[in-house]
Amino acid sequence: MPGFTPSSKLKRNSQSLLEPMPTPALQKVSKSMVIESGLHFLKEAGTDQICRVCIRNGGSCCNGCRHLSNGFGCQLRNTSCTAWLCGFLKFVLYEMELLEGWNEFWEQVPGQDYREDFTPDFFTTHTSLSACDTRLVSEALAADLQELAEGHIAIGFILTLREKIDKNMDQLLVHRHDKEKISKIKRNIRLLSSPFYRFHKACAAYKQQQKQQLQQ
Ligand code: SF4
Ligand code: SF4
Repeated sequence: MPGFTPSSKLKRNSQSLLEPMPTPALQKVSKSMVIESGLHFLKEAGTDQICRVCIRNGGSCCNGCRHLSNGFGCQLRNTSCTAWLCGFLKFVLYEMELLEGWNEFWEQVPGQDYREDFTPDFFTTHTSLSACDTRLVSEALAADLQELAEGHIAIGFILTLREKIDKNMDQLLVHRHDKEKISKIKRNIRLLSSPFYRFHKACAAYKQQQKQQLQQ
């Protein structure tokens, strides 16, 4: 993972996950606290609803993992899997302007690997995660995905879509300093997400609500 650059300019607003830490800037945290805050954040974001549709359509990212116990779920919760986002989840956080904060938070967490971690029990961080209730937005995307899955004969249609979105989300990061490429990638994302009409509506309503709250 790229190195994390702390910034004293980070401020909390309705669209940012990053909260300035009290001085001193470094805070000692435990691995379990970090996992808990990631899980809490995703729960508030409502991503479980998207996962339900994805899993029902054979797309579980835990497929084949030795830590998965049938009927009991994951038996070895780790920082790596908590931090990892698939194309759908990246897309939701991106649209809610939360993705950058999420990435910056997890870049502080050492020892992430594939389906396991070597994260020490305690380490220091500069920023914390602040959960936002975007469940209605995730619920809308879940409904859009369910409808798409039912409407397409091709098996795994939404899973292919997930991978295409994922690829574009990663490209956004790779080419973040290239304006021309960024606008092309954003166009691709808009095109890929054009069938998500419930999602876009819910997203606009959420943003409007946030704006109104800021003005009060
Ligand atoms: S691939 Fe994404 S949507 Fe599917 S189960 Fe994993 S995290 Fe959830
Ligand atoms: S370790 Fe990761 S991939 Fe394996 S079951 Fe747990 S969450 Fe899923």
